[in-house]
Order: sequence, then structure tokens, then C-alpha cells
Amino acid sequence: MQLSRNASLKAYNSFGFEVSAEYLAIVTTLDELMSALVFCAENKLSLLVVGGGSNLILTQDICGLVVVNRIALKHVESVSDGDFLVTAGAGENWHEFVRWTLMQGYNGLENLSLIPGTVGAAPMQNIGAYGVEIKDRMEYLDALDQESGEVCRFTKDECGFGYRDSFFKRIHAGRYIIISVTFRLSAKLELVLDYSGLSAVVERLGIEVPTALQISDLICDIRRSKLPDPDVIGNAGSFFKNPVISEQQCAELTRRFPALVSFADQPGLRKLAAGWLIDQLGWKGHCEGAVGVYDKQALVLVNYGEGSGVDILSLAQAIQTSVADRYGVLLEIEPRTYP
Ligand code: FAD
Ligand code: NAP
Repeated sequence: MQLSRNASLKAYNSFGFEVSAEYLAIVTTLDELMSALVFCAENKLSLLVVGGGSNLILTQDICGLVVVNRIALKHVESVSDGDFLVTAGAGENWHEFVRWTLMQGYNGLENLSLIPGTVGAAPMQNIGAYGVEIKDRMEYLDALDQESGEVCRFTKDECGFGYRDSFFKRIHAGRYIIISVTFRLSAKLELVLDYSGLSAVVERLGIEVPTALQISDLICDIRRSKLPDPDVIGNAGSFFKNPVISEQQCAELTRRFPALVSFADQPGLRKLAAGWLIDQLGWKGHCEGAVGVYDKQALVLVNYGEGSGVDILSLAQAIQTSVADRYGVLLEIEPRTYP
């Protein structure tokens, strides 16, 4: 285990905020993770587990121990009918893992290409993009229970997955440290293209029968054209969740704002495009000191260099207030705030 004191976390949060950790441990195996927890308990330190730091808002220096999970592992088991159970260590880079599965001919994760971060953090908020969520492909995960010290297995039905949500994020925040995730992937090709004009793009490109790898390439191209690269401009992806409201509230809003963008959700509910609401209020491209709203996607808040977590939260609050005043809708922040 690599342990340091008063360590900068700038490289461990995709906003690039300059905050430090009292102690920082980088763990590459389960044994090292256990040692880090012993160190934590012996010194009565609080604990924060970090993967790629791409869904975090760090507002000030972190007291206690920050553990960076770099547990690496890949394992494949062939099951029935062309299906494979593919396991990855929590510290594997998500996008590299997705590309690796596709290169091996294990299809299923292509729509989730180029999402930053680690495999272990992906179930935390049930990552999703282009009509696929991790819950659609996950079989089970293994997590270390900090209360009992035991490794527990959770099937996907036991994870309480919802829209950008799981039981690990909500009820048991901080209790379980995910150490590996197992996916059911397939040699068969069952592409999900009915989202966000994906099939139209495939048609325009003249690809008759696309492979999963081609879809992954396409999604990478689209994402690179729309989203800021955190290595260049600090950000945590979508800053707000898309609000889900009742059909009745949506109908009333559509009467007042006929261009309102909404999508079918659970029965009786509709999902609004938060980016559209923010854009309509003129926030896109708005700068406030060193932070701002990305000029190509109003849902993404950015740090142009010297901004802080406090600056981002203050901008977020101004946006929330303006959306609530105009539309009567509360925007919920998606990334986790620490401390
Ligand atoms: P971190 O930010 O390090 O951690 C997030 C949370 O998980 C924290 O609470 C942390 O304590 C906890 N955690 C981390 N690892 C573990 C572990 N092993 N065990 C227990 N808890 C853990 N998200 C989407 O859903 N869809 C997208 O399309 C998408 N696009 C994005 C695009 C950009 C440009 C960016 C910057 C972000 C995007 N995100 C997206 C958000 C983010 O990439 C995901 O939420 C990702 O899963 C976060 O992974 P991470 O390793 O960086 O997590
Ligand atoms: P987009 O395709 O421009 O769509 C805008 C919004 O409309 C998205 O938020 C999406 O909701 C919703 N949407 C579009 N088509 C839909 C459909 N057929 N059914 C239901 N909802 C639909 O969005 P984008 O910003 O370029 O992102 C593309 C995908 O990547 C989206 O799935 C988005 O969630 C994901 N993404 C997530 C993050 C993050 O940090 N969480 C960051 C970047 C991109 P959903 O968001 O619910 O899919």
C-alpha cells in the first residue's frame, strides 16, 4: 500500500479542485485495502473511497484517510448459450474495461463507452447512457462490509438500482466498499439503438449491420464532440439529474411552455431534460469567475482552472433557484459532495 500524508487530491477529482487529504492510500489488492482499513481504525480516521473522482465535488481539505481504489482483476467464465460472466476489479478503468470486453467479443457494454471513472464506482449511481444502464448488464458484485469486515455478494436485484441511484448511494452510503463487479455479456449481438437518434446516425454513416465495437466508436465520437474532456476542462459530467415529475405537472408545464422536452418514464411519470430547462434560462456558456456552464451542454458545470467546490455549488444553487422560479421544478445535484 502506498501511503502519503497531506497529499494533493487535484489528480483524483475530475473537477481538478486543489484540495488535500490528511492521508492518502492507493490500494491495488484486497489485502492492501484491508491494511488501509486497519490503519484507519487504529488512528480513528474517517474514510473516503475514491475511484476516478469523476463524480465528486470536493469543497475543502479532507480530514482522515482517502483510499484510491486501484484493485485490478479480469476474469471470464463461459456460461450457457454464448453468455459469459466477466468479472472486473473495482479499480479497473471503466472505459478501458468496456473496450477490452468488446475486443474479446463479449457484447453488451458498448453504449456505456467513454464514461470516466472506475468499474467499482459504476454501480454506485447505476451509470447509464444511450438507453443502457449498468443494471441491465450486471450479474452481481462483491463488496467489503466495513461493519462486519466480511466480503458480501449482492445480486443485481439486491442493489436497489434506480435512475442514477443504488442502495449503496442511499441507505448504506459509505458502508460497503465494492471490490469487483461481474457482468453477463454475450457473443450474440443485441444492440440498443433506439435512443437519442443513434439509429439515424448509424444509417447516415451507411453502416448496414454494425458491430458492438463500431457502436462504441460512434458513441465515443459523439461524446467527444459534446462533452468536455476532464483532462482539459475540469467537470463531473452531468451536474444535475433529469427531474422526474407527474404526467399532470408535465401537461401543465407543456401548456405554458409548448417546446418543453420530456420523455416517458414509469407509468404516470415523465422525465424532463434538465439541460433544456437550464439552456432556456440562458445559462449555457455563462461564466462566474473560474467556473461556469459548458457552452456546448448546459447540464455540465466546468472549472476553467482556479475554481473551487464552493464556487461550483454557489453557481449550482443560482441555477437551481432560477429553474425552480420559472418551472417550479427542483434540480437535484448528481455528483457526491465531500466533506
Ligand atoms: P468517484 O467519483 O471516485 O466516486 C463516486 C462515488 O462512488 C463516491 O461517493 C465514492 O466514495 C464512491 N466510490 C468510488 N469507488 C467506490 C468503491 N469501489 N466502492 C464503494 N464506493 C465507491 N455518469 C453516468 O452515469 N453516465 C454518463 O454518461 C456519464 N458521463 C460522464 C462524462 C464525463 C465527462 C464525466 C466527467 C462524468 C460522467 N459521468 C457519467 C459520471 C461518472 O463518470 C460516473 O458516475 C462514474 O461511475 C464515477 O466513477 P469514479 O470512479 O470516478 O467515481
Ligand atoms: P442527449 O442525447 O442530448 O439527450 C438529452 C437528454 O434527453 C438526456 O439527458 C437523456 O436522458 C434524454 N433523452 C434523450 N433521448 C431519450 C430517449 N429516447 N428516451 C429517454 N430519454 C432521452 O444527451 P447527452 O447529454 O448527449 O448524453 C447522452 C447520454 O449520455 C445520455 O444518456 C446521458 O444520460 C449520458 N450522459 C450522462 C452524463 C452524466 O454525468 N450522468 C454525462 C454525459 C452524458 P438520460 O440522461 O436519462 O439518458
